[in-house]
Amino acid sequence: MPIATTNPATGQVLKSYDPMSAEQIDAAIERADLAYRQLRGTTIAQRERWLTAAADLLEAERDETARLMTTEMGKTYAAAKAEVTKCATACRFYAAKAAEFLADEPADAAAVKATRAFVRYQPIGPVLAVMPWNFPLWQVMRFAAPALMAGNTGLLKHASNVPQTALLLEDLFRRAGFPEGAFTTLLVGSAEVDRVLSDPRVRAATLTGSEGAGRSIAQIAGRELKKTVLELGGSDPFVVMPSADLDRAAEVATTARCQNNGQSCIAAKRFIVHADVFDAFAEKFAAHMSALRVGDPMDPDTDVGPLASEGGRDEIHAQVRDAVDRGATVLCGGEPPTGPGWFYPPTVVTDLRPEMRMWSEEVFGPVAGLYRVSSYDEAIEVANGTAFGLGSNAWTRDPEEQERFATDLDAGNVFVNGMTTSYPELPFGGVKNSGYGRELSALGMREFCNTKTVWVGEGAATAGAGAHAE
Ligand code: NAP
Repeated sequence: MPIATTNPATGQVLKSYDPMSAEQIDAAIERADLAYRQLRGTTIAQRERWLTAAADLLEAERDETARLMTTEMGKTYAAAKAEVTKCATACRFYAAKAAEFLADEPADAAAVKATRAFVRYQPIGPVLAVMPWNFPLWQVMRFAAPALMAGNTGLLKHASNVPQTALLLEDLFRRAGFPEGAFTTLLVGSAEVDRVLSDPRVRAATLTGSEGAGRSIAQIAGRELKKTVLELGGSDPFVVMPSADLDRAAEVATTARCQNNGQSCIAAKRFIVHADVFDAFAEKFAAHMSALRVGDPMDPDTDVGPLASEGGRDEIHAQVRDAVDRGATVLCGGEPPTGPGWFYPPTVVTDLRPEMRMWSEEVFGPVAGLYRVSSYDEAIEVANGTAFGLGSNAWTRDPEEQERFATDLDAGNVFVNGMTTSYPELPFGGVKNSGYGRELSALGMREFCNTKTVWVGEGAATAGAGAHAE
């Protein structure tokens, strides 16, 4: 894949880059390793000042940064601005919370026959981050902010279609004051991931991307015995039960499917509706989906911009055609427009069957699958009947059902009467083929820490646990 910015609204190639040479990659890893030795000796208070400066820069430069993201991958300008703001919020969150998340944790010293015993969280070194284009700033920031606050350094291999956003991130952390090499963008193709992750100076990897990329990185990491966090695809269920507020559910379902032009790992993709309310919900949902305006992502009136690539657009159309050819019904959309740009209309498909691709594959665009079920148990069976387990949504006003959904949905999160979203305060990640490990919250920061047990016997100095967190 060429490393280049191509505007998805026009198909025009705007800027291309030569991939880095083996020598340049080696030099970048060396700088990341040296920066790690420097960073781990800094105080949390120092790193807090740098990360706060990064948040200030993001906020001050929000509009230019947003415009760049829209140009590189087609999200609406409004969504891009919100993404920049979210990144600044995450920087401030980790700047403020790092001292608490990294503080020594006292243990029961008497139970382990020590005079003092505690757990200390320490950085591990340079971490490789392989990232996708769909939230080109946010996906990186939710790794980078906690990693840098913990004292690790980052090597970013971003998706090949967002090189300018990747370079912007390196520049951001440098200007915020982090040491040279603390965060480095590697302009390389995915074939170079093996070289980087095999290098002994690189201690771990995090990947957000497709199942295939996850398997590939996990194989390399297995061979090299390195820790990985994998945030992979999803085919999130959105269950609607008879007691649900149908108007609100249909509105939120539309946003949950079409936000980011339908290209979100945690987009609701399968709408599983109880037969008692199926027809009413289907009508409202298709009406909302049809009313969305598709067009120029810079236009403030646009709801849905283009898909990020021609291949991505062709793939979702092939999934829809496959379903239709095997007997599915299209309630709205289903035909890409002619003309430049990789647009696809919001589409609702029903009468789906297990032999259709849409039943089991992730659909990465504004296309919703609508399923009719006749009971709670059947809703759970369809919702969990997928290889993925990232997010999930359930709509019901029945308190007992709300409790049951929270337990029974086999996913990394359950949102009741809402839509799956990521917050710095809450852990984020999946089960099954959606990956493993967690980002965000204290857990996300500790994924790339050495959780070190410290046991001190007779003759200990008097300083207690807690001395480490400045
Ligand atoms: P992708 O093709 O897997 O690309 C993601 C990143 O992995 C890119 O940097 C890509 O580099 C790299 N890559 C691809 N194949 C690789 C391989 N074999 N070895 C090493 N690196 C490899 O995914 P995408 O199509 O861009 O993104 C969409 C997918 O990401 C969807 O499945 C979506 O659900 C998932 N996603 C998951 C989350 C989550 O948090 N769970 C969040 C967002 C997206 P190149 O660009 O150079 O190919």
